[in-house]
Amino acid sequence: MTEHQSTDYQSKSWWLESLPQTIVPNPPLSGKDKADVVVIGGGYTGLSVGYHLKRLKPDIDVRVIESDVCGYGASGRNGGFSMTLFGLTKGITAFRFNDQKARSAHRYMEEAVDYLHQVITENHIDCDYERSGYLLVGTSPGQVKRVEHDFKIIERWGTTGIERWNRARLAEEFKTDFYKLGWFEPRCGIIQPAKLARGMKALTESKGVVIYENSPVTGFSKGKTAGYTVKTAAGELHCEYLVFATNAYSILFPQLQTLQRPVFTHIVMSEPLTDAQMAGIGWQCRAGVEDARDLIHYYRLTKDNRIVMGGGDVSFTYGTNFNKDLNDKIFNHLENHVTEVFPQLKGIRFTHKWGGPVSVTLDMAPVIGYLGNDKKAIFSLGCIGHGVSLTTYNGMTIAEMITGRKTSRTEMFFVGRKTIPWPPEPITYGAANAIRGFMRLEDWLYYK
Ligand SMILES: Cc1cc2nc3c(=O)[nH]c(=O)nc-3n(C[C@H](O)[C@H](O)[C@H](O)COP(=O)(O)OP(=O)(O)OC[C@H]3O[C@@H](n4cnc5c(N)ncnc54)[C@H](O)[C@@H]3O)c2cc1C
Repeated sequence: MTEHQSTDYQSKSWWLESLPQTIVPNPPLSGKDKADVVVIGGGYTGLSVGYHLKRLKPDIDVRVIESDVCGYGASGRNGGFSMTLFGLTKGITAFRFNDQKARSAHRYMEEAVDYLHQVITENHIDCDYERSGYLLVGTSPGQVKRVEHDFKIIERWGTTGIERWNRARLAEEFKTDFYKLGWFEPRCGIIQPAKLARGMKALTESKGVVIYENSPVTGFSKGKTAGYTVKTAAGELHCEYLVFATNAYSILFPQLQTLQRPVFTHIVMSEPLTDAQMAGIGWQCRAGVEDARDLIHYYRLTKDNRIVMGGGDVSFTYGTNFNKDLNDKIFNHLENHVTEVFPQLKGIRFTHKWGGPVSVTLDMAPVIGYLGNDKKAIFSLGCIGHGVSLTTYNGMTIAEMITGRKTSRTEMFFVGRKTIPWPPEPITYGAANAIRGFMRLEDWLYYK
């Protein structure tokens, strides 16, 4: 259960390395105690559950147990796009569920993006938030067809607030011939992910939630009559409600093993661009950009104008090996892609490379579910690479479920849905590689 535990959090991303202060971890859990709610995992999901529980019920006793430091997982390493995508694509979500559900999921995500902005501004969380929008670009005829398809879907849904950027409009913002058609969503934004995670930790603690760090949970058991007991090497907590906010790491708990799989996505980051380099590429709007391939590229600027380029391909793990953050082949591909898009940056230096696991369900859609019939052990999984705003909003949904509220959020179709289990190894590893092989082929044939 402790494979990924580490004290080297700073090596996990430039976001974590460049935090304004070195993290002094909270004391680990020790001894025996009890609480109303125990949350396992101190990423955006776990911290948001704690924060919202205290907002809804100030006298509730909530403890968050984090194996490393809060933000150690995907929350401290991601691309920092606060975006509205639910599942892999709108088309796949509509196909898997139905059009009406896909539309309600999109609305939930719009609320999630607006809500994250609200939490950050109301609580003065310093996380370099820029509400600079999200730009989906078609860079080849095949990709343009895909972007057109998404426009048709939102037209059908009656969704407003998304702009169509033709080549002339794109040329006003970017000095590249690469972009053929753009989908621009102004409500979205970019953040410094690790600053958001640490800011959420401070906010959650300020409301009275107790957070233990360096405390990997080694197991849990259900009481004979009621409640759960959660164990770490040095301590034990008994609670009425248990929340698994362990995302991709949930595979380390046998009870959650088949619900999702970790998939690793990778990022490279350049040195800061000079003013002349910035003038040479444009990027006036500073939007987070994604292309419309199967294995997408996602890229953005940091506050000090470094280019962060991620995606392009993914890595898989066999079984529960979490040692998959680094992949030189993918890093090389990503570095080359920066100068494919902006040839004027040829010779630019890349200073940092990292990766991390996202949580993937078999149908690529998120789930907030129950373990067992008493509805007192809750998990949130499958946010793939679209969890920044979603997990924060899901935290409120889970807090509402625990405090017995019925809201538009708790009634969403993905709350309490049954997931299709992943098959055991080696079938899963083989299937995942086959799917990636198909995506690579499709990208090469139609979308490159
Ligand atoms: C490289 C990368 C790029 C991404 N880019 C984007 C993006 O641009 N936009 C977007 O929306 N999403 C993105 N994502 C996805 C997003 O980061 C995640 O969906 C989100 O951070 C998940 O938050 P979480 O709290 O559920 O999980 P995590 O942040 O992974 O938190 C889980 C926590 O549980 C802890 N833990 C695990 N096991 C135990 C245990 N046994 N005991 C105690 N604690 C435990 C871990 O240490 C970790 O801190 C990206 C992810 C990655 C990896």
